Amino acid sequence: MKHIPTVGFISLGCPKALVDSEKILTGLRTEGYAISSTYQDADIVVVNTCGFIDAAVEESLDSIGEAIKEHGRVIVTGCLGAREADIRARHPQVLQVTGAHAYEEVMAAVHTHLPPRHDPFVSLVPPQGVKLTPSHYAYLKISEGCNHRCTFCIIPSLRGDLVSRPLDDVLLEAEKLVAAGVKEILVVSQDTSAYGVDINYQAVNWRGQSVQTRFYELADKLGELGCWVRMHYVYPYPHVDKIIPLMAEGKLLPYLDIPFQHANNRLLKLMKRPAASQNNLERINAWRAICPEISLRSTFIVGFPGETEQEFTELLDFLTEARLDRVGCFAYSPVQGAVANTLPNAVPEEVKQERLARFMALQAEISAERLQQRVGRIETVLVDEVVAEGAVARSKADAPEIDGQVFIDGATHLTVGDFVKIEIEEADEHDLWGHLV
Ligand code: SF4
Repeated sequence: MKHIPTVGFISLGCPKALVDSEKILTGLRTEGYAISSTYQDADIVVVNTCGFIDAAVEESLDSIGEAIKEHGRVIVTGCLGAREADIRARHPQVLQVTGAHAYEEVMAAVHTHLPPRHDPFVSLVPPQGVKLTPSHYAYLKISEGCNHRCTFCIIPSLRGDLVSRPLDDVLLEAEKLVAAGVKEILVVSQDTSAYGVDINYQAVNWRGQSVQTRFYELADKLGELGCWVRMHYVYPYPHVDKIIPLMAEGKLLPYLDIPFQHANNRLLKLMKRPAASQNNLERINAWRAICPEISLRSTFIVGFPGETEQEFTELLDFLTEARLDRVGCFAYSPVQGAVANTLPNAVPEEVKQERLARFMALQAEISAERLQQRVGRIETVLVDEVVAEGAVARSKADAPEIDGQVFIDGATHLTVGDFVKIEIEEADEHDLWGHLV
């Protein structure tokens, strides 16, 4: 039998990088390449890297090193690809390096080092493309890059300014996903609330209607597809208020992933955060008035250069008032090439760690209290996994991987992707337990 050119693929990084990997894999399968999960069966290995923080850079460099050691023929792409010199300094043997969001370049690199077999058989590719997530949920990337210049972040220098996909393109992909059995779509980008601004909210024709490429229209149209739709990476701009009624109507999941990063105005300005001057507490209260079941997830940085004890306390006060449902927090760590590294008054490491611990302890209490309030409620959950003890599901308030889970003991007859109603019986600070009703 004729040998099928086979590509080994290693996908690192955030959901946005995962979407890039899916696009590359879909392209490779379309051209007749086989994909292998082992080094032995691969003719070449592609590593899709992450370069967001120093730990991710190290992980990426280690993965490249492992692929070179185990296989030898390696192409590197993704965020870290923008730093070719750093990669070559550590791993001079890599065959080729391409940057983030450089789909055509990666494909060209694979063609150069492993030409495709001439084969008209393209029907091996499912119409929704190759997905790396379980088939009942999928990430939908609506744009690439970012127009902001947060001083702790190097993503714009790696991925460039915002480039939005026209709305019809995005909706077509979403429809294909739903037709293929996807029950939950997770909208991702670097800045979801800015969707369309770079293309002047270009109007497209969608099912005979002229619709603008804009955040609200995106939410509204996705909300008509009949699946769960979850919004990630939204900033607290006034126009975001408009989508909260869609959540109250049940068109969108009542969930917002909204990275606040801090509560003190001086620090937010030093960070150059989008919507830094907004009154976030007022905004949160207004959202809850419109949609009381809304769940809010956010991330924060403690120990940013110059953060005083008083400013940190202001952040704790904000947490106490805001009562967010899910929170991630990082002690500030300098990223090579980030402007924030040049700011004066770095916070000593032990102070950063002490603040991180205080922050997390406070939020653990708040999260536990928020979850406890749901005990006794009847909620619809989506089954993610069925194991020997029962089903593992997620509620509307939980995004996969980053939030909590809902355990339904004994419900082994359920199937992944089922929506079921449960009564919540128990909660800890992360997860819930319930029984079918
Ligand atoms: S909004 Fe800020 S943190 Fe997010 S990608 Fe853009 S520059 Fe980076």
